[in-house]
Amino acid sequence: MQKKTVAFSKDASNLFFHILTRCNLSCSHCYINPDQHGNNTLSIDTIQRWLGLFAQKAFQTNLIFLGGEPTLHKELSAAVKHARRLEFHSITIDTNGFLFHDILEKITPADVDAISFSLDGATCATNDIIRGKGSYDAVVSGIHRAKKKGFVCSMIYTVSDKNLHELSRMPDLVASLDIDRFFIQVIGMRGKSAGTGKNTQVSKTLWLSVIPKVAETIAQTGVIVTYPKVFLDTADTFACAGIVADNYFVFPNGRVYRCPLCEDYPLHAFTIVNNKMVPAPPVNETHLFDLTIPEGCVMNKIIQPGNLDYLADGTPAHRIACCMLKQEIRSQP
Ligand code: SF4
Ligand code: SF4
Repeated sequence: MQKKTVAFSKDASNLFFHILTRCNLSCSHCYINPDQHGNNTLSIDTIQRWLGLFAQKAFQTNLIFLGGEPTLHKELSAAVKHARRLEFHSITIDTNGFLFHDILEKITPADVDAISFSLDGATCATNDIIRGKGSYDAVVSGIHRAKKKGFVCSMIYTVSDKNLHELSRMPDLVASLDIDRFFIQVIGMRGKSAGTGKNTQVSKTLWLSVIPKVAETIAQTGVIVTYPKVFLDTADTFACAGIVADNYFVFPNGRVYRCPLCEDYPLHAFTIVNNKMVPAPPVNETHLFDLTIPEGCVMNKIIQPGNLDYLADGTPAHRIACCMLKQEIRSQP
């Protein structure tokens, strides 16, 4: 088994492109915040122009189409094909499984590197409480249809205290659906989750006792598994992706963030104005990335301090890693 921390690099860029914020579901942990991200749908012309802003580095950029639900966009297929022409390093569509507008009929496996399905429970009961009625069946059916057509399919499972208990049942489901890649996410206290005022994140002890073990079990079947590091070990060095990596989170109202934890606030680093990316006035997120605190990630301390613990002398019991720092685990080649 090979386990590695995926190092940040300025030479590998990730572009998370929200082409609309509309969605047919209303998941309890949805990160979309219409007050901050707008509720418009980008025209295909605008999508193509905005993709063009990143075209120079397309060859080293992983592009992820997101929403809302991106398949609700009638011209997602045209957007995907345009991105392929621009030679993005990889292209992924993140979907809730409903696969609107016959998207599987309009693109081929050569157009995308993966279709990524979100599922937040091993059972219909748990998943549908979090994501909405019918969403479990939509994902299972969507994966079957996509696999039949030869698409690479990945799955994203966002862990909270509502579904941690079912993660250990995921290896069987992942195997039965023939998933190619499995991503475990940690729920963030932003978007709708922030609005509840209730912390649904799991404790360090629970996270460490469950996640690595399940990841290893799934990886043993040949599936590549990725999960966030979250808690740094004593010997680990802290690094902020806002400084040492090259990530962009683009929203249809023109906001461009470098850090996903900032997305609930008007702290975006750039704004796209007249199809040009211009730096946002101070104070923006880039002014926070340099702040050094003993707890590790500064935005984590500001928006979700519930995952921090302190010793009797007031020093942090552990440091929180950048939310973009991932562990990748795969069976040895
Ligand atoms: S499917 Fe995604 S965009 Fe839609 S409500 Fe759920 S989390 Fe939000
Ligand atoms: S999550 Fe924290 S460490 Fe990562 S980019 Fe944001 S502020 Fe920086």
